Amino acid sequence: MAEKIKCLIIGSGPAGYTAAIYAGRANLSPVLYAGMQPGGQLTTTTDIENFPGYPNGISGFEMMEEFRKQAEKFGAEIRMGNVTETDLSNSPYRITIDGKETVEAETLIIATGATAKYLGLADERKYAGAGVSACATCDGFFYRKKTVAVVGGGDTACEEAIYLSNVAEKVYLIVRKPELRASKIMQIRVKTIPNIEILFEQEVVGLSGEKFVEGATILKRRGQEDESTYELPIDGLFLAIGHHPNTEVFKQWLDTDETGYIITQPGTPITKVAGVFAAGDVADPDYRQAITAAASGCKAAIEAERYLSTMEVCEIIAERKSK
Ligand code: NDP
Repeated sequence: MAEKIKCLIIGSGPAGYTAAIYAGRANLSPVLYAGMQPGGQLTTTTDIENFPGYPNGISGFEMMEEFRKQAEKFGAEIRMGNVTETDLSNSPYRITIDGKETVEAETLIIATGATAKYLGLADERKYAGAGVSACATCDGFFYRKKTVAVVGGGDTACEEAIYLSNVAEKVYLIVRKPELRASKIMQIRVKTIPNIEILFEQEVVGLSGEKFVEGATILKRRGQEDESTYELPIDGLFLAIGHHPNTEVFKQWLDTDETGYIITQPGTPITKVAGVFAAGDVADPDYRQAITAAASGCKAAIEAERYLSTMEVCEIIAERKSK
């Protein structure tokens, strides 16, 4: 017999843990599976200085530990494990963990987040947290009056470059094609900001620096007759080549957009499957902040509680009718 869980939460970023705190306080006995990266994306960043309540900042890892403790304090059970299969065809929903055990959930909160895409260079890992970032809003502040580069030619890259242009002294926008993919308005903005320089037909192929990034090796005009490489001195590299929502195992049952983000009823975490909710970056290609993820985790737990109460009332009515 599969274990029955009233409120199952998948994912241990700000959305998952906040859902666990609220569900715990609502006596839903939540169980949370932490997933591939316990603590989520914030554990890969440096200090968090934009989450209200932390005037002196806090490391992403420490913040997620505090979230976890708070969730456990209110009765959430945190388990290690990764969802490998789901069956959302009927309630209770069947969720398989690590390809082994299957649990049954009356309500499911999907908070599996999104993963920033990286170029795939070994140097990116080497300098992770030491000059390489995928979030200007999170880490831009550490590059005040410095020189940074943003990789990508879409709206995110332009947005990141614009954000950084207010912080850093100089921003290079490194675009592999001869044109930007971003919307016209964003293109106009980046082109008119004096401290942003766009380097078209260029790619980062390596990074250098003793402990922190001090420079990037740039490949210019790949595959052309005049292909060349040069060293660009920079203090930080921001990747903005897209995110990948972690929705593979749920996609079959839910509506997703063309990039795989779960589509919910506007302004709510309600998906098209009753009792299944999506919170945080997994359903948010736009804001992608810890605070917005936490807020949607709160909404998801409140919706789960409402759904369970409605189901309970329905069961009582059905029971009375049958007598
Ligand atoms: P996009 O997929 O739109 O753009 C990705 C960019 O990264 C492209 O320029 C692409 O180049 C480049 N890229 C991809 N892989 C590599 C690589 N290996 N090396 C170098 N460059 C690479 O992603 P975004 O995150 O920018 O946007 C996602 C969606 O979100 C879009 O629909 C966007 O409009 C939307 N968005 C809207 C915003 C707004 O309206 N304010 C803000 C942010 C995002 P290439 O063009 O050569 O493929």
